[in-house]
Amino acid sequence: MENYEILWNNALDVLRNTASSIAFSTYISKITPVDLEGRKLVLNVPTELFAREIANRLLDKILQALKTAETGVTSVKITVGDSDKDYLHKDDEVEPLLESSMEINPRYTFDSFVVGSSNKFLYSAAKAVAEDPGKNYNPLFIYGGTGLGKTHIMHAIANYVKKENPTANVLYATCEKFTTDLITIIRQGKGSASGAQEFRNRYRNVDVLIIDDVQFLANKEATQEEFFHTFNELYSQEKQIILSADCHPSQIATLSERLKTRFEGGLMAQVVSPDIETKIAIIQRKAEERKYIINTEVATYLAENSSDDVRSLEGLLNKVIFASLLHESPITISLAMEAIKQAVSSENKEVMTTTNIINIVCNFYDISKNDLLGKKRNKELVEPRQICMYLMTELLSIPLMTIGQAMGGRDHTTVIHARDKVAELIQTNSRIATEVNDLKNLILKK
Ligand code: ADP
Ligand code: MG
Repeated sequence: MENYEILWNNALDVLRNTASSIAFSTYISKITPVDLEGRKLVLNVPTELFAREIANRLLDKILQALKTAETGVTSVKITVGDSDKDYLHKDDEVEPLLESSMEINPRYTFDSFVVGSSNKFLYSAAKAVAEDPGKNYNPLFIYGGTGLGKTHIMHAIANYVKKENPTANVLYATCEKFTTDLITIIRQGKGSASGAQEFRNRYRNVDVLIIDDVQFLANKEATQEEFFHTFNELYSQEKQIILSADCHPSQIATLSERLKTRFEGGLMAQVVSPDIETKIAIIQRKAEERKYIINTEVATYLAENSSDDVRSLEGLLNKVIFASLLHESPITISLAMEAIKQAVSSENKEVMTTTNIINIVCNFYDISKNDLLGKKRNKELVEPRQICMYLMTELLSIPLMTIGQAMGGRDHTTVIHARDKVAELIQTNSRIATEVNDLKNLILKK
């Protein structure tokens, strides 16, 4: 079977659940995968009518399925006819320009957000906005250091609005995503009306627009210009706009005065480092979510020894939970102290190297080292690859960059993505949870 056939089959497994059975049998089952061009999957359909129907009605679902199945495919091209040379003329090519939009994390809710004095104001403002989007504070501008819950609270607003009003069009994007989408459109050249239209549809045809990390507008004049127009259009229609940055707007380099004025014209909500009580509450809450119990003594110890952001707090918790698994012992204060001092005991560290973990993962999944470290993106390889990176971040105290290098020269952001992805899968997918646990045992017993 060709690689693109495997990718398509994986997407079909998803589509069987996400598309209606009529759409599936009438259209989707008539699609044949014929090629893979970079990250673009080429699909062939019998007639032009089919191509149009699919383009108009099913393309989003297909792209989403390719994403859910982790095929790595980011766009599709639809061709018509029996021969794979018989592609539609470029102008007729049915191909969305923009990559799919970003997802909202269902776990980031108001319920899972621990409220303390450091974020009480932010919490109430966010809640007010979520309850009545466009009416209370527009825009809501959230700012403060990294790892303090800005992204979490923004997703919470999105989840809340969507739950209360399922038809509301809520768009979450990072400022980088906004920029990438804009650049994609600009590359098409000024003549491309459809590209501009696609961009507008995405960013202006919304009820709630959430843009994360707008500090990335710094030194990007063209993006600022487009952002200004998007902002004005939504604002004048009383659509809710929510923005975040790691600093006050006045500290974003070259941010135009008019954008600064807009940003500061709504409600500014600052989030600061949590105090010790909030830290303790967050640790206990996060542990609970993972079905562990951390007593107040241990939680206090962790809180006192953490740096000031919540993300690092979660890192400490991970270390302690892992130590408890490793020593098969309950989470006591002495275990916590030991765990924080050293993520892994030195005798285990000696044998625990990246090579070691790679070998064990390859054996476990019965795949070759070349495949594990290579670039192929079928699910059979992507999953072990991500799990391998996750295990390295958990078990080895080495920089993410080093892990990326060991994993066939990948970027550290890829390692971060894999780590977060697997951490989430462990909670939702019991097969993965078991496999990861078995692997950990294998690695540690060596
Ligand atoms: P930021 O966007 O400000 O950099 P994030 O929203 O990504 O920070 O938060 C980092 C991590 O800390 C996330 O896992 C988030 O769930 C968690 N977190 C931050 N603040 C809180 C809070 N008040 N309650 C629970 N979890 C929090
Ligand atoms: Mg963030």
